[in-house]
Amino acid sequence: MLAGLALLTTAPAYADSCNNPDALGTSRTIVVDPREHPRIGTMQYAQTLPLRDKEVVLTFDDGPIPKYSNQILDILAAECVKATFFIVGRMAKEFPDGVRKLIRLGHTVGTHSENHPLSMNRMPIEQAQKEIEDGIANTTAALGDPALLSPFFRIPGLLRASAVEDYLASRGIQTWSADFPADDWRHVSSQTVHDLAISRIKAKGKGILLLHDIQPRTVAALPGILRDLKAGGYRIVHVEAATADKPKTPTQPQDWQMHPVSETVAITRWHKVPGFSFAHLDMLPAPEITASDQLLSLTENFDRARRPRGAAPMTAQAPWPPRANMPAPTTVDALPVPAPSLFEMAERHMQPIKVLVRLPHHAAHEPGVQSAKNDGIARLISIDASAPRRTIPGAIPPGLTPTAAAAAPR
Ligand SMILES: [Zn+2]
Repeated sequence: MLAGLALLTTAPAYADSCNNPDALGTSRTIVVDPREHPRIGTMQYAQTLPLRDKEVVLTFDDGPIPKYSNQILDILAAECVKATFFIVGRMAKEFPDGVRKLIRLGHTVGTHSENHPLSMNRMPIEQAQKEIEDGIANTTAALGDPALLSPFFRIPGLLRASAVEDYLASRGIQTWSADFPADDWRHVSSQTVHDLAISRIKAKGKGILLLHDIQPRTVAALPGILRDLKAGGYRIVHVEAATADKPKTPTQPQDWQMHPVSETVAITRWHKVPGFSFAHLDMLPAPEITASDQLLSLTENFDRARRPRGAAPMTAQAPWPPRANMPAPTTVDALPVPAPSLFEMAERHMQPIKVLVRLPHHAAHEPGVQSAKNDGIARLISIDASAPRRTIPGAIPPGLTPTAAAAAPR
């Protein structure tokens, strides 16, 4: 009995193993060493988790809020899927049972600051450190054992700053960005959340999906997301941090790249621009992006965030690299028939412009930026739900397309 209790409190309990034969399931667990790879997620960084094609890692931020978090957990349990949760310290203090439940169900728990300030990119580093440490302290207090907390941190709103990242790295904590959001913190329909999640996953082929377990639209969207991932042949990967007893999963340096530099990828990149003139890239050897995927993600494209206020949306909407990135003229001239595909591409280019695009609000106009720190949890949640269209800081790593880009999540 005592041994059983100890097991429940010191290790993920997999006793409630999956009994749904049709479940999506968790295909494998990878163990990562934060010290070797301190920053991951191609929305902002050069590296991401060492995933194989069609592997997806699910992450949920901002909880727990039992009303919604419990529904998320039920949905994940029904599909036997393990995820990573980034906890807000104040939420952990308010709902410690919700944090313990995550461990009990076998999920990974990281942290997401104490108060979810949307200003870690510009606050004094001492204040940022306090946000980080208080969040860790309250989450650890809820768990009752520091060993149950993974050294994973996601910066609120992905508002990164080098000093913050350096501090986290010095603490042996891995900074998690993501590879694709689904905009579930915005006032969009659950169908939109579903569609964005699926289209962006398809566009990159693998990666870390950023969701929020405190949003009703996420609760509504998640079953369909999991169903379509299964139907599409995707596999869910669970992530844990290496410890003295748990060695890291062996990887090669290139495994941490979204698109490793290789002969194959070079060819793929060549295809990126002219490839849009083909309707179904799925038949190509190494498709990265299909035109339809790109169109669907246009409204949340990073390009929008970089567009000057009031500028016409059309110019920034091209979902492929600017013409300057196209093959050099000599290369194009060497092609037998370059012109037709280019013309066809231009026609497709025009279609997405029908989408109504809301221009981003500048961060300074965002409600709650100043008050988030001192207000109550209800206020915190409402800020999360209010979802201002805010620009994302941080550069897109060289060589990446802007497809992953989107306004910053919460
Ligand atoms: Zn958040």
